[in-house]
Amino acid sequence: MTRKLVYRFGFGSAEGRAQWKELLGGKGANLAEMSNMGIPVPPGFTITTEVSVDYLAQGAVNSGVFEAVRDSLRWLERGTGKTFGGLDSPLLVSVRSGARSSMPGMMDTVLNLGLNDSTVLALARRSKSERFAFDAYRRLLCMFGDVVYGVDRRLFDAPLDDARRRTAAERGLPAPADPEALARLVPDSVLGAGELRRVVEAYKRIIRAESGRDFPDDPFEQLESAIVAVFESWNNPRARLYRQMHDIPEGWGTAVNVQAMVFGNLGETSATGVAFTRDPSTGERRFFGEWLPNAQGEDVVAGIRTPRVLARSADSKGTSLEESQPETYAELFAIQSKLEQHFRDMQDLEFTVEDGTLYLLQTRNGKRSARAAVRIAVDMVGEGLLHPDEAILRVDPERLQELLFPAIDPQTTATPVAKGIAASPGAVSGRVVFSASDAEVAAAAGQAVILVRTETSPEDLHGMKAAKGILTARGGATSHAAVVARGMGRPCVAGCAALHVDAAALCLQVYGADGSVVARIAAGEPITIDGGSGNVYTGVVETIDAGLGSEMETLLEWTARVRRLRVRANADTPAQAQKALSFGAEGIGLCRTEHMFFSDERIAAMREMILARDVAARERALSKLLPFQVEDFTELFRVMRERPVNIRLLDPPLHEFLPQEPGAIAELARVMEVSVADVERKISDLHEFNPMLGHRGVRLSITYPEIAAMQVRAILEAACRVKKEGHDVHPEIMIPLAFSAAELGAMRAIVDRVARETFARHGLEVSFGFGTMIELPRAALLADQLAKHAEFFSFGTNDLTQTTLGVSRDDAGSFLPLYVERQILPHDPFVSLDIDGVGELMRIAIEKGRVARADIALGVCGEHGGDPRSIDFCERLGLGYVSCSPFRIPIARVAAAQAALRRTKKYWH
Ligand code: ADP
Ligand code: MG
Ligand code: MG
Repeated sequence: MTRKLVYRFGFGSAEGRAQWKELLGGKGANLAEMSNMGIPVPPGFTITTEVSVDYLAQGAVNSGVFEAVRDSLRWLERGTGKTFGGLDSPLLVSVRSGARSSMPGMMDTVLNLGLNDSTVLALARRSKSERFAFDAYRRLLCMFGDVVYGVDRRLFDAPLDDARRRTAAERGLPAPADPEALARLVPDSVLGAGELRRVVEAYKRIIRAESGRDFPDDPFEQLESAIVAVFESWNNPRARLYRQMHDIPEGWGTAVNVQAMVFGNLGETSATGVAFTRDPSTGERRFFGEWLPNAQGEDVVAGIRTPRVLARSADSKGTSLEESQPETYAELFAIQSKLEQHFRDMQDLEFTVEDGTLYLLQTRNGKRSARAAVRIAVDMVGEGLLHPDEAILRVDPERLQELLFPAIDPQTTATPVAKGIAASPGAVSGRVVFSASDAEVAAAAGQAVILVRTETSPEDLHGMKAAKGILTARGGATSHAAVVARGMGRPCVAGCAALHVDAAALCLQVYGADGSVVARIAAGEPITIDGGSGNVYTGVVETIDAGLGSEMETLLEWTARVRRLRVRANADTPAQAQKALSFGAEGIGLCRTEHMFFSDERIAAMREMILARDVAARERALSKLLPFQVEDFTELFRVMRERPVNIRLLDPPLHEFLPQEPGAIAELARVMEVSVADVERKISDLHEFNPMLGHRGVRLSITYPEIAAMQVRAILEAACRVKKEGHDVHPEIMIPLAFSAAELGAMRAIVDRVARETFARHGLEVSFGFGTMIELPRAALLADQLAKHAEFFSFGTNDLTQTTLGVSRDDAGSFLPLYVERQILPHDPFVSLDIDGVGELMRIAIEKGRVARADIALGVCGEHGGDPRSIDFCERLGLGYVSCSPFRIPIARVAAAQAALRRTKKYWH
C-alpha cells in the first residue's frame, strides 16, 4: 500500500482530524478539525511529517510528493475557481510549517506564493487594487528571499524606508532619521502602489545580488522550493534551541501546509489578528486579542504597527474590532467559544478578515504562564469542562516553580517610571542589556540581567532564555516577546510605549506623559520589572514571596485523591521543616546532620573532636556537641510531630570541618592549646585524593563509633522529650554510604545499646526506624543482605549516580553537556534519573530487599526526588515516598499525582 502523502482540508470537510498531530502537525491537524467543524478556513492541504522526516534523512524529496502536491493544487483550483499562476484569476497560496507540538515562530512560512510580474497584474485587476497586489508581491519577495534563498531579512528594510521617506516628503511631513519613528509616521498601509512597485523592483535586485539567483517566475518552482525550505527550517538554530528547551525530539520533523491565501490587506474592511480565549498571563476567563486593519500575516505579532484591541473597553475609543466590525466580532466570538468547548482548552487563534469575510487560520492550545495554566485548569473543572484528574494532568509540574516567583513588596516606596503590558507574571530585578548576545554573556558570568528590546524576534530566543526578565517597548500581549516569555516562564513587560530603546548607544530613555525624558538608563544599570502589573522601576525594588495562590491550593488538594507516593522534604533545620510543611510535606526524607555543626559555637567543639588524640578526649568533645544536637532534633520533632523524620548520621569527610587559612589554623591551635604544626599535621593527615570515595559516611562511624553513638543518643533523647510533650514522634535513623551488612550490623548494635540506655532513663520507648541509604552499586547488589538489618532503604541517587556512572558531579561540567547534546545520555543524569543504569540498580535493590524483608520501606532522597520524570519512574518502581527540597514539594505532589494517573488510567499517555 502506498503511503498517503498529502491530506486535504477545506470547503466544509477534511481528510484529517485533530488527533492526527503526529502525521499532520498541530497546525495541519487543527485546520482539518476546524474544517470538519464547519468553521470558515481557507482550503488547502497538508504534506505529512513523514515526508519531512524522509527529506531530512535523505536530503531529497521522495518521488511522488510533488505529483501529489500538484494533484491537490488542481483540487484547490477547482474548489476556489482560481488558477495557480493563472492570468485571469490567480490562486495564491501560503506554505506554512507546522510541527507536532507548536514551536511558535521558530520555523518558516512563506505567504503569497504564485505571484510574479504577470500574475501580480491579474491580481491588481481582480482586486481592483494595484496597491494591494504590489503589497502582496513585496511581502512574497521578502519572505521568499529570506526563507528560501537565505537573504538577510534586514536588507529588505532599506527600500521600504526609502519609500516611507519619499511618501513623507510628498505629504510635506518631516521625515525622522530613526527608522522606527519613520515607520510610525508612514506605516506600510499608507504606501501607494507606485512606491510598492519600486520596492518590488528593489527587492528583486537585492535577491539577485545576495543569492546570485533570480526570484523564480514559475509558481510551481516557487512552491516546490518553498516546501523544501520549510522542511529545512526544522534545523535552523532557533528551532533547535527551542526543541532543546522544550524537550521536543529531533526526529519529529515538520508537516507543511499549503493553503489558499485570504487577504487582510485588501483595504479597511479587511484585517488580521490573533486572539486568546482566556488571558494567557493570568488565566482569567476573558476573550481578548489584537488586530490590525489592512494588514497581513504577522504584522500584529511583529509589533511594526501598534495593534488594536478586539473587545470594546473603556479606552478602546472606537478602535476595537467589536466597534469597527461588530458582525465580524460577533462571529469571531462565537467561534472562539465553540473552539474552546471543542478542544476543552484555552485556544490561541489566528484570523483574517477579507473584505468583511472572516477566516480562521490557526487554532492551538495557547501557551500560558504557569499561573494561568493552574487557574485555567481549575476553572475548567468548575465549568464542567474537565475532570479534576484531567486538570492535574494539564499543568507542567516543572513550571510550578514560577508560582513562587516573587511579587513587588506592597509596602515599597518605589514608584514605577513606566508601565507596559503585563505580559508574563513575576517581579525581577537585573541589569539592563540591549542584545540577546549581551544577555547570554552577562548571564554566563553569573549576572542577573533584564533583556530590553524595542521588540523581540525569534533570533532573540537565546538571550531571552539567559535573561531573568524581558522588557519591550513595542508589541502587545500577543507579541513575540509576550508569547515566548510566557512559554518559558520569564517575567515580561511588553509594549512599554514610554520607552525608547537606543540599542546602538546602549541606552534607554523613558518618556513621561508630557513627552519629556524622565529617566535615562544605561546598559548595566539595574531595573526591576513586574510582569504581573506591567510596572517598570529603576533600581532594585524589594520583593516578597507571592505564595502559591488559591487555585494552586485547590489543585494540590485534588492531587491527594490520586497520589500514591508520599512526598517528604529534605530539610536540615526547623525553619526549613516549617517551610516544607507549608508546602505540604508529609515528613522529612533527609535531615543532613553535618549542617548543624557549622555554626560558630559548634564548629569549635567539632574541631576539638576531630583533633582529639584519644577516645577519651573525643568523647569529651562529643559531649559538648550532644546538647546542641538534642536541641536541634527536639525542635525538628516539635515541628514535624507525628510525621516521619529521617535523620542521616554524619556523612562528609572530617577535613571539611577544618580551617584552610593560616590565620584560622593559628586560632584553632591557640584554642586547642596545641601547636600550629600539630593542627597542620592533622589537616594533612586528613587530606584525601578523592574525598568522595574516601573516609566518609558509615566509614566514619566504623572508625569513630563514639560519633555515631552521640548522634543516636541525641536523636532518641530528643524523641523521648517530645514524646513526653504529647507528640507521637517517628524518627528514622539512616546510615549513609554503607555497602555491607557488616557495617549495618555494627551500627545496629550501637543503636540498640543507646536506645536501651535512653529509654531506660526516660522510662518510655519511642518506636524508631533503622535503615540505610543506597548510594553504592554494591549496596544495591547486596540489598538482600543489607535488608537483614535495614528496615528501610532510601536511595541516595546523587551519590548512586556518581558511583554508578563513575562521574563526579563537580567535574562533569566539561563533558556532560556534550553527552546530552549528542544524545549519548538522554538527560543530565544528575537532574533526571538515569533510568537505564541507576534505575536498574534501584530495581535490583528493591527486588532483593523485598526478598529479605517483604515490607521494607522505600524512598528516594536525591535531587531526583523533585524531578517529575524521575518521580514518574519512582511511581513505577513502587517506592513509598520521594523526598526533595522544600520549594519543590508542590512540584513533587503534582508530579506524583500525574505519575499515578498515568499508571492507572488508560486515557492518558
Ligand atoms: P507561525 O507558525 O510562525 O505562526 P504561520 O504559518 O501560522 O506561522 O503563518 C504566519 C502568518 O501568516 C500568520 O499570521 C498566519 O495567520 C498568516 N497566514 C498563513 N497562511 C495564510 C493564508 N493562507 N492566508 C492568510 N494569512 C495566512
Ligand atoms: Mg512565522
Ligand atoms: Mg501561526
